[in-house]
Amino acid sequence: MRAIVTGANRGIGLEFVRQLLARGDRVVAGVRRPTAGDALHALAAAQPDALHVLPLDVGAPESIAAFAERAGALLDGIDLLVNNAGILHRDERFGDIGAAAFEDSFRINAMGPFLLTQALAPRLARGGCVVNMSSRLGAMALKDGFLTPTYSVSKAALNMVSVLLAHALADAGVRVFPVSPGWVRTDMGGTTAEVDPRDAVAGLLRLAAEAPQEDSGRFRDWTGAAIDW
Ligand code: NDP
Repeated sequence: MRAIVTGANRGIGLEFVRQLLARGDRVVAGVRRPTAGDALHALAAAQPDALHVLPLDVGAPESIAAFAERAGALLDGIDLLVNNAGILHRDERFGDIGAAAFEDSFRINAMGPFLLTQALAPRLARGGCVVNMSSRLGAMALKDGFLTPTYSVSKAALNMVSVLLAHALADAGVRVFPVSPGWVRTDMGGTTAEVDPRDAVAGLLRLAAEAPQEDSGRFRDWTGAAIDW
């Protein structure tokens, strides 16, 4: 299989790369700031034919275009695209939220996945899958109060992005899933989070492999269960 993972240098993205390599996939990893010597580059040095690391800022359209071209040339088709890169602005308080946080949350968490998927669409293989890393914090059904507002708005937008992409790619036989990975122990999730990244990624890879075309566009969690929007 041939896979692309964004935001692949740490957290859930890095775990995707590890598990994809372990099952024998070829992987192109997109990272905002390629850093020689980090864990991702160590994996690439150990398996230079299987893993390529390319620069990608998913908030910058010109970076997305350049990445899509280079990644497309490295892989002769794409079976899995994981739009994983994301940002969370913390400690936002009502009365004190400015435009900048909305703008870059939207660019990175919603616009980037759309533009990258659109750019790679001609190369997505029939039967392939796009996994968009959303969050329960983007669900209207959330009843927990005024939490993470700019993040939540951007993930709600990503859910709509996913539904639209599911329609756009249906004839090509490509499935698209907005997913919640659970509350995962990463820099973003923190040390007290419930889910080990290995379990979240294993569950999401199972979903990508098994979920049928007729479910494309539905909001799922890492166990494969449906979630309310
Ligand atoms: P981390 O904060 O640990 O890692 C985020 C990754 O995204 C980093 O690799 C970061 O790169 C990258 N990134 C951020 N902005 C950009 C950008 N503009 N271009 C390219 N890469 C970028 O997060 P997690 O691994 O925990 O989360 C991964 C995804 O899962 C995110 O979309 C997040 O919203 C989602 N999620 C996570 C949950 C959790 O509990 N952890 C819960 C629900 C959803 P850099 O190192 O350069 O900053």
